[in-house]
Amino acid sequence: NQGIGSWPARRARMTPDKVALSYRGRDYTYRDLRERVNRLASALDVRRGDRVAFLGANQPAMVETFFAAGLLGAVFVPLNTRLAMPELRFILDDAEPAVLVLGAERDGAGLPGRHLTAAAYEDLLMTGSPEPIDAPVGQDDVCLIMYTSGTTGRPKGAMLTHANLTWNTVNLLVDVPLAHDEVTLISAPMFHIAALAQTLIPSVLKGGRAILEPSFDVGRTFDLIESERVTVMFGVPSMFGLLTRSERWAGADLSSLRHLLCGGAPVPEPLIRTYQDRGLTFLQGYGMTETAPGALFLGAEHSIAKAGSAGVPCFFADVRLLAPDGSPAAPGEPGEVYVEGPNVMPGYWRRAKETAEVLSADGWFRSGDIGVADDDGYVRISDRINDVIISGGENIYPAEVESALYEHAAVAECAVIGVPDEKWGEVGKALVVPRPGAEVAPGDLLKHLDGRLARFKIPKYLEFVAELPKNAAGKLLKAPLRKLYGG
Ligand code: ATP
Ligand code: MG
Repeated sequence: NQGIGSWPARRARMTPDKVALSYRGRDYTYRDLRERVNRLASALDVRRGDRVAFLGANQPAMVETFFAAGLLGAVFVPLNTRLAMPELRFILDDAEPAVLVLGAERDGAGLPGRHLTAAAYEDLLMTGSPEPIDAPVGQDDVCLIMYTSGTTGRPKGAMLTHANLTWNTVNLLVDVPLAHDEVTLISAPMFHIAALAQTLIPSVLKGGRAILEPSFDVGRTFDLIESERVTVMFGVPSMFGLLTRSERWAGADLSSLRHLLCGGAPVPEPLIRTYQDRGLTFLQGYGMTETAPGALFLGAEHSIAKAGSAGVPCFFADVRLLAPDGSPAAPGEPGEVYVEGPNVMPGYWRRAKETAEVLSADGWFRSGDIGVADDDGYVRISDRINDVIISGGENIYPAEVESALYEHAAVAECAVIGVPDEKWGEVGKALVVPRPGAEVAPGDLLKHLDGRLARFKIPKYLEFVAELPKNAAGKLLKAPLRKLYGG
């Protein structure tokens, strides 16, 4: 069995007594994890290639279901807990799982197919055999169907093979020197690729301890960092931003932290500096579900010098930037980001047309993102093609305007969208969440942009708002923003 499903057993051979998972005060050793995965796999009654869905927050059953499916050559399909019923049904009808495993907090009412509730799950484990299962699983078998975040439209199921996830782990370990004794806090949801592939899977490979949290909570995060001496954390920038805005930030003992992985969205430079001031350096990266996810990586040593960029291609991946006519974009010129490597998915589940749109015959994946490389090859992700605002024939990259806004101390969060304009076709509109207590008027922020940005890039409108719509990964959702404020 060459698949990732065998990893708990491989680890248990080496370090059976080390703690693999901690959840709500309970520890599971690698021996426990191996046994529970074996029991589940033998009792699940699914065949190679069958889909096994999981609906729930981070919890041991989610991890066990992932590895048990992998052990059988079945395909794990984690579902986003924030989706509404019709959205969940859409995905379940698409994936057609043989069974849907439910987290302890879900009852599955209204969802199609065979379910396994948390109570039935524990009973099933007891009927299963703890003995190892030997199923023929190859590296190129699909291990995971992960639905993309749905930021730009309906989620699509990206198929990721055991090889894709293995190579992503290798790429991560090339740059992040994870030790055998890391304590990884996993509070980003594992139904998104980053938490699963950048934290859980490497933790199991190295024999570390992963603390599973059902959701991200600022107070809880500080508690755990201090009491469990957390060494590794992944978060999107907004999560790391929330920590700095807490009253606990100033007094927190952060001395245990070794590796802070930050990505999924552009990392504002002031955020990098705020952590730097506490002696903490981000490991930044750019990636997407379809590339399992790592494509670009910015190591700690370049965090400040190359702030604003997402780094260079991961060791076993290649990235190129192409101008609209298909020629390579010169340094300093924007181009669409393409990724190739052993981490790139074979395609979207049951979506031949969409797959053909993004995957070329020679294996290059088209990201839909725009990047600009500097002379050293460090790529700054400037925006998504669909978010670009075209104003009087000029391209405005909202991300650039947003990062200029972030340089103002009163800006807690912001987003820039395009709104229709008679004269220019489109103009920018900024939505800003001010920092609590900040004494600032919209005009002050526009003045702040003056001189920092070319005239045409300065938003014509700037509004203060209480919050910005985000998905479960904490990622800003521009489509609902446009609906709310785009008129
Ligand atoms: P969908 O494809 O369904 O619209 P999505 O693209 O948001 O959703 P993900 O695969 O979770 O789903 O996210 C990948 C995207 O996140 C990238 O294509 C890119 O737009 C953005 N992203 C990731 N990392 C970074 C980064 N470091 N800087 C800027 N953008 C990033
Ligand atoms: Mg995408």
